[in-house]
Amino acid sequence: MSSLFALVDCNNFYVSCERLFNPSIKNSPIVVLSNNDGCVVSRSQEAKDLGIKMAVPAFLIESVIKKHNIHVYSSNYALYGDISSRVMATLETLAPELEVYSIDEAFLNLSGFTLMGSLADYGKKIQKTVRQHVGVPVCVGMAPTKTLTKLANYAAKKYAATGGVVDLSDPERQRKLMEITPVDEVWGVGRKSAEKLKKIGIKTVLQLAQMDLDRAHKRFSILMVKTIEELNGTVRFDLEDNPVSKKQIMCSRSFAERMTDKEQVRETICEFAARVAERLRGDGQVCSVVNVFIRTGVFSSVDPQYSNSATAKLSVPTSDTRIILKAATDLFESIWKDGHRYAKSGVMLGDFCDKDKVQLDLFSQPSTQSANEGLMSAIDQINEGGRGKVWFGGQRPKEDWFMRRAHLSPAYTTRWEDLPVVN
Ligand SMILES: [Mg+2]
Repeated sequence: MSSLFALVDCNNFYVSCERLFNPSIKNSPIVVLSNNDGCVVSRSQEAKDLGIKMAVPAFLIESVIKKHNIHVYSSNYALYGDISSRVMATLETLAPELEVYSIDEAFLNLSGFTLMGSLADYGKKIQKTVRQHVGVPVCVGMAPTKTLTKLANYAAKKYAATGGVVDLSDPERQRKLMEITPVDEVWGVGRKSAEKLKKIGIKTVLQLAQMDLDRAHKRFSILMVKTIEELNGTVRFDLEDNPVSKKQIMCSRSFAERMTDKEQVRETICEFAARVAERLRGDGQVCSVVNVFIRTGVFSSVDPQYSNSATAKLSVPTSDTRIILKAATDLFESIWKDGHRYAKSGVMLGDFCDKDKVQLDLFSQPSTQSANEGLMSAIDQINEGGRGKVWFGGQRPKEDWFMRRAHLSPAYTTRWEDLPVVN
Protein backbone atom coordinates (compact mmCIF):
# COMPACT_ATOMS: atom_id res chain seq x y z
CA MET A 1 0.00 0.00 0.00
CA SER A 2 1.47 3.34 -0.94
CA SER A 3 1.78 6.06 1.67
CA LEU A 4 0.05 9.40 1.50
CA PHE A 5 0.30 12.41 3.81
CA ALA A 6 -1.07 15.94 3.79
CA LEU A 7 0.18 19.06 5.51
CA VAL A 8 -2.37 21.74 6.27
CA ASP A 9 -0.85 25.09 7.20
CA CYS A 10 -2.75 28.28 8.05
CA ASN A 11 -1.70 31.37 6.10
CA ASN A 12 -0.21 34.22 8.15
CA PHE A 13 -1.95 32.62 11.10
CA TYR A 14 -1.83 35.32 13.79
CA VAL A 15 -2.79 37.98 11.27
CA SER A 16 -5.65 35.82 9.99
CA CYS A 17 -6.92 35.40 13.58
CA GLU A 18 -6.93 39.19 14.08
CA ARG A 19 -8.80 39.65 10.81
CA LEU A 20 -11.51 37.18 11.78
CA PHE A 21 -13.02 39.65 14.21
CA ASN A 22 -12.08 42.80 12.44
CA PRO A 23 -13.16 42.59 8.79
CA SER A 24 -12.35 46.25 8.27
CA ILE A 25 -8.63 45.35 8.19
CA LYS A 26 -9.18 42.62 5.60
CA ASN A 27 -7.00 44.29 3.00
CA SER A 28 -4.79 46.41 5.23
CA PRO A 29 -1.14 45.81 6.02
CA ILE A 30 -0.92 44.15 9.46
CA VAL A 31 1.89 42.93 11.69
CA VAL A 32 1.70 40.97 14.93
CA LEU A 33 4.50 41.45 17.47
CA SER A 34 6.13 38.92 19.80
CA ASN A 35 6.33 39.09 23.61
CA ASN A 36 6.70 42.56 25.02
CA ASP A 37 6.03 43.91 21.56
CA GLY A 38 9.60 42.98 20.63
CA CYS A 39 9.68 41.90 17.01
CA VAL A 40 7.47 40.95 14.08
CA VAL A 41 6.16 37.36 14.24
CA SER A 42 3.35 37.44 11.67
CA ARG A 43 2.73 39.62 8.62
CA SER A 44 -0.13 40.06 6.21
CA GLN A 45 0.69 39.84 2.52
CA GLU A 46 0.34 43.65 2.31
CA ALA A 47 2.96 44.06 5.04
CA LYS A 48 5.27 41.60 3.29
CA ASP A 49 4.85 43.61 0.09
CA LEU A 50 6.00 46.71 1.97
CA GLY A 51 9.28 44.91 2.61
CA ILE A 52 8.76 44.13 6.29
CA LYS A 53 10.85 41.11 7.17
CA MET A 54 10.05 38.34 9.64
CA ALA A 55 11.58 38.80 13.13
CA VAL A 56 12.58 42.42 12.56
CA PRO A 57 12.56 44.40 15.85
CA ALA A 58 9.51 46.66 16.04
CA PHE A 59 11.46 49.82 16.86
CA LEU A 60 13.37 49.55 13.58
CA ILE A 61 10.22 49.83 11.48
CA GLU A 62 8.42 52.56 13.40
CA SER A 63 8.64 55.05 10.55
CA VAL A 64 7.41 52.50 7.98
CA ILE A 65 4.48 51.68 10.26
CA LYS A 66 3.51 55.32 10.47
CA LYS A 67 4.05 56.08 6.83
CA HIS A 68 1.93 53.21 5.52
CA ASN A 69 -0.59 53.13 8.32
CA ILE A 70 0.25 49.53 9.23
CA HIS A 71 -1.99 47.97 11.86
CA VAL A 72 0.03 46.64 14.78
CA TYR A 73 -1.09 43.93 17.23
CA SER A 74 0.48 42.36 20.31
CA SER A 75 0.44 38.55 20.38
CA ASN A 76 -2.96 37.44 21.66
CA TYR A 77 -2.22 33.87 22.73
CA ALA A 78 -5.69 33.24 24.13
CA LEU A 79 -7.23 34.06 20.76
CA TYR A 80 -4.70 32.17 18.63
CA GLY A 81 -4.81 29.09 20.86
CA ASP A 82 -8.57 28.98 20.66
CA ILE A 83 -8.74 29.45 16.88
CA SER A 84 -6.04 26.79 16.55
CA SER A 85 -8.05 24.21 18.47
CA ARG A 86 -11.05 24.95 16.25
CA VAL A 87 -8.97 24.42 13.12
CA MET A 88 -7.65 21.13 14.51
CA ALA A 89 -11.14 19.96 15.53
CA THR A 90 -12.33 20.63 11.98
CA LEU A 91 -9.38 18.75 10.45
CA GLU A 92 -10.09 15.75 12.66
CA THR A 93 -13.43 15.34 10.96
CA LEU A 94 -11.73 15.21 7.56
CA ALA A 95 -8.95 12.68 8.08
CA PRO A 96 -8.46 9.36 9.87
CA GLU A 97 -5.19 10.32 11.64
CA LEU A 98 -3.75 13.69 12.54
CA GLU A 99 -0.66 15.16 14.18
CA VAL A 100 -0.84 18.73 15.45
CA TYR A 101 2.60 19.89 14.40
CA SER A 102 2.41 23.49 15.50
CA ILE A 103 -0.22 26.03 16.46
CA ASP A 104 -1.14 26.49 12.81
CA GLU A 105 0.00 23.29 11.11
CA ALA A 106 -1.16 19.67 11.11
CA PHE A 107 -0.02 16.56 9.30
CA LEU A 108 -2.72 14.15 8.16
CA ASN A 109 -2.00 10.52 7.41
CA LEU A 110 -4.15 9.59 4.45
CA SER A 111 -2.55 6.22 3.68
CA GLY A 112 -5.24 3.68 2.84
CA PHE A 113 -7.90 6.35 2.97
CA THR A 114 -10.46 6.04 0.17
CA LEU A 115 -10.94 9.39 -1.50
CA MET A 116 -13.97 10.50 -3.42
CA GLY A 117 -12.62 12.30 -6.46
CA SER A 118 -9.07 13.53 -7.00
CA LEU A 119 -6.48 14.42 -4.38
CA ALA A 120 -6.64 18.05 -5.45
CA ASP A 121 -10.41 18.00 -4.88
CA TYR A 122 -9.82 16.65 -1.39
CA GLY A 123 -7.29 19.44 -0.72
CA LYS A 124 -9.84 22.01 -1.88
CA LYS A 125 -12.43 20.44 0.37
CA ILE A 126 -10.11 20.83 3.38
CA GLN A 127 -9.53 24.47 2.45
CA LYS A 128 -13.22 25.18 2.04
CA THR A 129 -14.30 23.38 5.21
CA VAL A 130 -11.78 25.19 7.44
CA ARG A 131 -12.81 28.45 5.81
CA GLN A 132 -16.49 27.75 6.50
CA HIS A 133 -16.14 26.38 10.04
CA VAL A 134 -13.41 28.65 11.38
CA GLY A 135 -12.82 31.38 8.82
CA VAL A 136 -9.07 31.24 8.36
CA PRO A 137 -7.33 30.54 5.03
CA VAL A 138 -5.07 27.46 4.74
CA CYS A 139 -2.69 25.89 2.23
CA VAL A 140 -2.63 22.14 1.65
CA GLY A 141 0.26 20.04 0.38
CA MET A 142 -0.12 16.32 -0.34
CA ALA A 143 2.61 13.76 -1.03
CA PRO A 144 3.90 10.27 -0.13
CA THR A 145 6.13 11.49 2.76
CA LYS A 146 5.97 14.25 5.37
CA THR A 147 9.14 15.88 3.99
CA LEU A 148 7.55 16.03 0.53
CA THR A 149 4.29 17.45 1.93
CA LYS A 150 6.34 20.27 3.47
CA LEU A 151 7.74 20.95 0.03
CA ALA A 152 4.27 20.76 -1.54
CA ASN A 153 3.00 23.23 1.02
CA TYR A 154 5.89 25.56 0.29
CA ALA A 155 4.86 25.53 -3.39
CA ALA A 156 1.20 26.05 -2.50
CA LYS A 157 2.18 29.22 -0.63
CA LYS A 158 4.76 30.50 -3.07
CA TYR A 159 2.89 30.01 -6.33
CA ALA A 160 -0.48 31.76 -6.42
CA ALA A 161 -1.56 29.79 -9.48
CA THR A 162 -1.86 26.66 -7.31
CA GLY A 163 -4.78 28.18 -5.43
CA GLY A 164 -3.13 27.02 -2.23
CA VAL A 165 -3.42 23.29 -2.95
CA VAL A 166 -0.59 21.15 -4.33
CA ASP A 167 -0.79 17.43 -5.08
CA LEU A 168 2.82 16.26 -5.18
CA SER A 169 2.18 12.54 -5.51
CA ASP A 170 3.51 12.34 -9.06
CA PRO A 171 7.31 11.65 -9.13
CA GLU A 172 7.79 13.76 -12.24
CA ARG A 173 6.12 16.74 -10.54
CA GLN A 174 8.29 16.16 -7.47
CA ARG A 175 11.40 16.25 -9.64
CA LYS A 176 10.39 19.49 -11.36
CA LEU A 177 9.64 21.27 -8.10
CA MET A 178 12.84 20.02 -6.44
CA GLU A 179 14.84 21.28 -9.38
CA ILE A 180 13.75 24.90 -8.94
CA THR A 181 13.66 24.99 -5.12
CA PRO A 182 16.70 25.99 -3.06
CA VAL A 183 17.96 23.39 -0.59
CA ASP A 184 17.26 25.79 2.33
CA GLU A 185 13.56 25.04 1.96
CA VAL A 186 13.89 21.38 2.90
CA TRP A 187 12.23 20.51 6.20
CA GLY A 188 14.84 19.72 8.84
CA VAL A 189 17.73 21.30 6.93
CA GLY A 190 18.78 24.16 9.18
CA ARG A 191 20.73 27.24 8.21
CA LYS A 192 24.11 25.70 9.09
CA SER A 193 23.49 22.49 7.18
CA ALA A 194 22.26 24.46 4.18
CA GLU A 195 25.48 26.47 4.13
CA LYS A 196 27.56 23.33 4.39
CA LEU A 197 25.57 21.69 1.60
CA LYS A 198 26.05 24.67 -0.69
CA LYS A 199 29.79 24.57 -0.08
CA ILE A 200 29.92 21.08 -1.53
CA GLY A 201 27.83 22.11 -4.53
CA ILE A 202 24.39 21.02 -3.34
CA LYS A 203 22.18 24.02 -3.99
CA THR A 204 18.80 22.65 -5.03
CA VAL A 205 16.47 20.16 -3.38
CA LEU A 206 16.94 17.84 -6.35
CA GLN A 207 20.70 17.80 -5.83
CA LEU A 208 20.13 16.84 -2.19
CA ALA A 209 17.68 14.12 -3.20
CA GLN A 210 20.38 12.65 -5.44
CA MET A 211 23.14 12.82 -2.81
CA ASP A 212 24.89 9.58 -1.95
CA LEU A 213 23.53 8.25 1.35
CA ASP A 214 26.88 7.11 2.75
CA ARG A 215 28.36 10.49 2.01
CA ALA A 216 25.40 12.22 3.67
CA HIS A 217 25.83 10.04 6.75
CA LYS A 218 29.56 10.76 7.02
CA ARG A 219 29.30 14.49 6.44
CA PHE A 220 26.03 15.12 8.27
CA SER A 221 23.90 12.78 10.33
CA ILE A 222 21.40 9.97 10.18
CA LEU A 223 18.69 12.63 10.08
CA MET A 224 20.06 13.92 6.77
CA VAL A 225 19.99 10.36 5.41
CA LYS A 226 16.36 9.99 6.45
CA THR A 227 15.51 13.35 4.89
CA ILE A 228 17.07 12.29 1.58
CA GLU A 229 15.15 9.03 1.65
CA GLU A 230 11.94 10.95 2.33
CA LEU A 231 12.64 13.22 -0.65
CA ASN A 232 12.79 10.01 -2.69
CA GLY A 233 9.39 8.87 -1.48
CA THR A 234 10.34 6.46 1.34
CA VAL A 235 8.60 7.12 4.66
CA ARG A 236 11.11 7.72 7.47
CA PHE A 237 9.02 10.07 9.57
CA ASP A 238 5.65 8.79 10.67
CA LEU A 239 3.13 10.93 12.51
CA GLU A 240 4.67 12.25 15.77
CA ASP A 241 8.14 11.62 14.39
CA ASN A 242 10.04 14.64 13.08
CA PRO A 243 13.53 15.76 12.09
CA VAL A 244 13.37 19.01 14.09
CA SER A 245 12.02 19.95 17.47
CA LYS A 246 8.58 21.42 17.35
CA LYS A 247 7.50 25.01 17.83
CA GLN A 248 4.65 23.78 19.98
CA ILE A 249 4.21 20.54 21.89
CA MET A 250 0.70 19.22 22.13
CA CYS A 251 -0.78 16.29 23.96
CA SER A 252 -4.46 15.60 23.50
CA ARG A 253 -6.73 12.62 23.19
CA SER A 254 -10.30 11.72 22.49
CA PHE A 255 -11.71 9.86 25.48
CA ALA A 256 -12.78 6.27 25.04
CA GLU A 257 -16.08 7.19 26.65
CA ARG A 258 -17.66 10.58 27.25
CA MET A 259 -16.74 12.08 30.63
CA THR A 260 -19.00 14.16 32.83
CA ASP A 261 -16.98 14.05 36.06
CA LYS A 262 -14.80 17.09 36.68
CA GLU A 263 -12.13 15.19 38.61
CA GLN A 264 -11.85 12.67 35.83
CA VAL A 265 -11.31 15.31 33.15
CA ARG A 266 -8.88 17.15 35.43
CA GLU A 267 -6.83 13.98 35.68
CA THR A 268 -6.45 13.88 31.90
CA ILE A 269 -5.22 17.48 31.96
CA CYS A 270 -2.64 16.62 34.65
CA GLU A 271 -1.43 13.65 32.72
CA PHE A 272 -1.09 15.60 29.47
CA ALA A 273 0.65 18.48 31.25
CA ALA A 274 3.22 16.14 32.78
CA ARG A 275 3.81 14.52 29.43
CA VAL A 276 4.32 17.71 27.44
CA ALA A 277 6.67 19.07 30.12
CA GLU A 278 8.71 15.90 29.87
CA ARG A 279 8.92 16.18 26.09
CA LEU A 280 9.91 19.82 26.41
CA ARG A 281 12.81 18.95 28.70
CA GLY A 282 13.75 16.17 26.31
CA ASP A 283 14.20 18.81 23.62
CA GLY A 284 16.34 20.93 25.96
CA GLN A 285 13.83 23.75 25.71
CA VAL A 286 11.69 25.89 27.95
CA CYS A 287 8.28 27.36 27.19
CA SER A 288 6.39 30.46 28.19
CA VAL A 289 2.90 29.69 26.93
CA VAL A 290 0.56 27.00 28.28
CA ASN A 291 -2.76 26.32 26.57
CA VAL A 292 -5.53 24.00 27.73
CA PHE A 293 -8.72 22.99 25.97
CA ILE A 294 -11.73 20.80 26.68
CA ARG A 295 -14.64 20.00 24.43
CA THR A 296 -17.69 17.87 23.87
CA GLY A 297 -18.18 15.82 20.71
CA VAL A 298 -18.10 18.13 17.72
CA PHE A 299 -20.97 16.77 15.70
CA SER A 300 -23.28 15.16 18.18
CA SER A 301 -26.90 16.00 17.52
CA VAL A 302 -27.96 14.73 20.95
CA ASP A 303 -25.59 16.47 23.39
CA PRO A 304 -25.37 20.21 23.84
CA GLN A 305 -21.99 21.36 22.61
CA TYR A 306 -19.33 23.13 24.58
CA SER A 307 -15.77 23.93 23.64
CA ASN A 308 -13.38 26.26 25.35
CA SER A 309 -9.69 26.90 25.74
CA ALA A 310 -7.56 29.17 27.86
CA THR A 311 -3.98 30.29 27.69
CA ALA A 312 -1.45 31.38 30.31
CA LYS A 313 1.61 33.40 29.56
CA LEU A 314 4.56 32.71 31.86
CA SER A 315 6.81 35.71 32.24
CA VAL A 316 9.81 33.47 32.93
CA PRO A 317 10.16 30.54 30.52
CA THR A 318 10.30 27.13 32.22
CA SER A 319 10.20 23.38 31.76
CA ASP A 320 9.37 22.71 35.41
CA THR A 321 6.53 20.21 35.55
CA ARG A 322 5.09 21.68 38.75
CA ILE A 323 4.73 25.09 37.21
CA ILE A 324 3.28 23.78 33.98
CA LEU A 325 0.94 21.49 35.90
CA LYS A 326 -0.29 24.27 38.12
CA ALA A 327 -0.84 26.60 35.17
CA ALA A 328 -2.69 23.86 33.28
CA THR A 329 -5.00 22.96 36.17
CA ASP A 330 -5.79 26.61 36.87
CA LEU A 331 -6.64 27.11 33.22
CA PHE A 332 -8.80 24.02 33.39
CA GLU A 333 -10.68 25.50 36.36
CA SER A 334 -11.32 28.68 34.39
CA ILE A 335 -12.99 26.90 31.47
CA TRP A 336 -14.72 23.94 33.17
CA LYS A 337 -18.49 23.86 32.88
CA ASP A 338 -20.67 21.28 34.61
CA GLY A 339 -23.35 19.34 32.82
CA HIS A 340 -21.58 18.46 29.60
CA ARG A 341 -20.45 15.17 28.17
CA TYR A 342 -16.79 15.78 27.36
CA ALA A 343 -15.13 13.98 24.47
CA LYS A 344 -11.65 15.41 24.38
CA SER A 345 -9.06 17.47 26.23
CA GLY A 346 -5.57 18.68 25.54
CA VAL A 347 -2.58 20.66 26.76
CA MET A 348 -0.27 22.61 24.49
CA LEU A 349 3.02 24.33 25.24
CA GLY A 350 4.36 27.10 23.05
CA ASP A 351 6.72 30.03 22.67
CA PHE A 352 9.88 27.99 23.19
CA CYS A 353 13.42 29.05 23.64
CA ASP A 354 16.68 27.32 24.37
CA LYS A 355 17.08 26.37 28.03
CA ASP A 356 20.48 28.06 28.09
CA LYS A 357 19.29 31.24 26.46
CA VAL A 358 16.50 32.12 28.82
CA GLN A 359 16.06 35.83 28.99
CA LEU A 360 15.19 36.77 32.53
CA ASP A 361 12.57 39.39 32.81
CA LEU A 362 13.62 42.72 34.09
CA PHE A 363 12.64 42.10 37.69
CA SER A 364 13.83 38.54 38.26
CA GLN A 365 16.94 37.88 40.30
CA PRO A 366 19.29 35.49 38.48
CA SER A 367 20.34 33.89 41.79
CA THR A 368 16.84 32.77 42.60
CA GLN A 369 16.31 31.36 39.13
CA SER A 370 18.68 28.47 39.58
CA ALA A 371 16.94 27.19 42.67
CA ASN A 372 13.60 25.44 42.59
CA GLU A 373 12.14 28.09 44.85
CA GLY A 374 13.19 30.58 42.22
CA LEU A 375 11.24 28.70 39.64
CA MET A 376 8.27 28.77 41.91
CA SER A 377 8.44 32.55 41.91
CA ALA A 378 7.58 32.43 38.26
CA ILE A 379 4.22 31.01 39.24
CA ASP A 380 3.23 34.34 40.68
CA GLN A 381 3.82 35.91 37.34
CA ILE A 382 1.61 33.77 35.23
CA ASN A 383 -0.98 35.90 33.62
CA GLU A 384 -3.43 36.20 30.80
CA GLY A 385 -5.84 33.35 31.24
CA GLY A 386 -8.35 33.01 28.48
CA ARG A 387 -11.02 33.92 31.00
CA GLY A 388 -9.32 36.55 33.10
CA LYS A 389 -6.15 36.04 35.11
CA VAL A 390 -4.42 33.05 36.59
CA TRP A 391 -2.56 33.30 39.88
CA PHE A 392 -1.61 31.13 42.79
CA GLY A 393 -2.03 30.99 46.53
CA GLY A 394 -4.70 33.63 46.29
CA GLN A 395 -2.00 36.10 45.41
CA ARG A 396 -3.06 38.34 42.62
CA PRO A 397 -0.32 40.43 41.06
CA LYS A 398 -1.06 44.06 41.68
CA GLU A 399 -0.47 45.17 38.16
CA ASP A 400 0.49 43.68 34.84
CA TRP A 401 3.59 45.76 34.68
CA PHE A 402 5.74 42.88 33.54
CA MET A 403 4.22 42.45 30.11
CA ARG A 404 3.99 45.15 27.56
CA ARG A 405 1.05 44.46 25.31
CA ALA A 406 0.02 47.86 24.15
CA HIS A 407 -1.72 46.71 20.99
CA LEU A 408 -3.60 43.69 22.32
CA SER A 409 -6.85 42.79 20.62
CA PRO A 410 -9.74 41.50 22.75
CA ALA A 411 -9.97 37.77 23.60
CA TYR A 412 -12.97 37.59 21.29
CA THR A 413 -13.65 33.91 21.59
CA THR A 414 -12.63 33.15 25.15
CA ARG A 415 -13.74 36.02 27.35
CA TRP A 416 -17.37 37.00 27.65
CA GLU A 417 -16.61 40.69 28.07
CA ASP A 418 -14.70 40.57 24.80
CA LEU A 419 -17.40 39.04 22.63
CA PRO A 420 -17.58 41.05 19.41
CA VAL A 421 -20.68 43.19 19.18
CA VAL A 422 -22.59 43.20 15.90
CA ASN A 423 -24.59 46.32 15.20
MG1 LIG B 1 1.47 29.04 8.83
